[in-house]
Amino acid sequence: DKPASSPRRDQDDRLLGGLLSPAFDEQSCRSRYASPSLYRRPSRFRPSPYLAARLRRYEARHRRCGPGTPLFEEAVERLRSGRNAARSECQYAVWTPFNGLGNRMLALASTFLYALLTDRVLLVHAPQEFDGLFCEPFPGSSWTLPAGFPIADFDGIFTMLSPTSYKNMKKAGAINGGDHVNVTAETLPAYVFLDLIQSYTDAAFCEADQRVLAKFNWMVVKSDVYFATAFFLMPAYRRELARLFPEKEAAFHHLARYLFHPSNDVWGIIRQFHEAYLAGADERVGLQVRVFPELPVPFETMYGQIMRCSEQEGLLPKVARQDAAAPSPDGGKMKLTSILVTSLSPEYYERIRGVYHANRTESGGYVAVHQPSHDGAQHTEARGHNQRALAEIYLLSFCDRIVTTAVSTFGYVAHGLAGVRPWVLLRAPAPETPAEPACVRSLTVEPCMQAAPRQMCGAAKGSDIGALASYVRHCEDVHGGVKLF
Ligand code: GDP
Repeated sequence: DKPASSPRRDQDDRLLGGLLSPAFDEQSCRSRYASPSLYRRPSRFRPSPYLAARLRRYEARHRRCGPGTPLFEEAVERLRSGRNAARSECQYAVWTPFNGLGNRMLALASTFLYALLTDRVLLVHAPQEFDGLFCEPFPGSSWTLPAGFPIADFDGIFTMLSPTSYKNMKKAGAINGGDHVNVTAETLPAYVFLDLIQSYTDAAFCEADQRVLAKFNWMVVKSDVYFATAFFLMPAYRRELARLFPEKEAAFHHLARYLFHPSNDVWGIIRQFHEAYLAGADERVGLQVRVFPELPVPFETMYGQIMRCSEQEGLLPKVARQDAAAPSPDGGKMKLTSILVTSLSPEYYERIRGVYHANRTESGGYVAVHQPSHDGAQHTEARGHNQRALAEIYLLSFCDRIVTTAVSTFGYVAHGLAGVRPWVLLRAPAPETPAEPACVRSLTVEPCMQAAPRQMCGAAKGSDIGALASYVRHCEDVHGGVKLF
């Protein structure tokens, strides 16, 4: 039975249960209000009313402090003058991209959560290859740094050795001669760089550090990890996060569905592919095969692992034995399964498609296999390539079951958006040695925070970060990482 539809219910659906603001022009961003039920099964997670209210409050602040406002001009002038001021009405977190699109989306969502928790306004440094991938997320304003912003050479300034980075400032005693607890805002530089790249995630998650960081009106954040998880382990944010995300497992799911709306160009690619190849299927299985260039796994080893995983977990339709009698459809319609393969290489798709061309399935159902693109190699510097990558992350997120490759942030974003727990193809101990088991079902929808801090503040020396709270665990695919569930 279809649930009775009413205008109120439809509106609630369209706005993802209050997550999205209704205040946008629909044509400027067609993906935002596209009826979710056309593309995905309903999410099992609902945003809390408190999260919705906090987002509306955030949007109001962004409108008041964002680019083009007098408060923004004032803040930019102070930045240009090189001096920090006592806490001003508007404070900013400027996100700058690093690594591939999956890494970028995880870091951007984390930076947004940080802005939400610390009452900052999120701005995005968008180089040409990133520009135009997403719609503006905040109504009546922009998140893009305007032309003429005083900091231009992001790649040159924001490196590991930059004297503007918080941990280097601390090391050099630049923060009030090392007495960083009693530091006054006026003595600080005009901005601070928060370097949260991979193994450096331990630089900023102490409450004493957060108190100093809060005094900088401008902050630049560069990261390639889902560092949002770390805030859930800090006592200072625990209460607020529990109200924002009563279901911790859905934190990224809600953040991503709020923040990331593919631009009309990208949405065009997504819609066309969906209509042609996925919409008519009874079931959609997404298979993401990522072979990292630094860890090349031979095709046969990886293909074998996918098949073992499928066999073990009953994922892809089973092929009938040659001598099996043809099943009769009983007059009913045969089930159609669409398998969506995403990979930089076409080989997995070709082999799997070949199998279903040459064989009947055990159930008699039909199987169609599709792959949208196969660019061969990663080209994060090219906008067209990133558009295809984003389209494929979305298409994967429309699938009912998702199989992802260990360690890949591309896969994390897809299953996070979908709100489903993926089957994760585990990393083999060595390129030629098969992984055992081939895959495991993830405990949670949340992405893994890879390269977790070695130790959290206040925790006993040597204590295991994966055991600090009842709601974190080490990741199945990256043992040093942790994730919420
Ligand atoms: P990760 O390296 O797997 O963690 O994921 P990232 O998204 O950060 O970086 C990988 C990049 O390689 C992607 O952003 C794409 O540019 C490209 N890429 C990897 N796998 C695929 C794929 O299946 N489809 C497409 N279109 N691009 C991919």
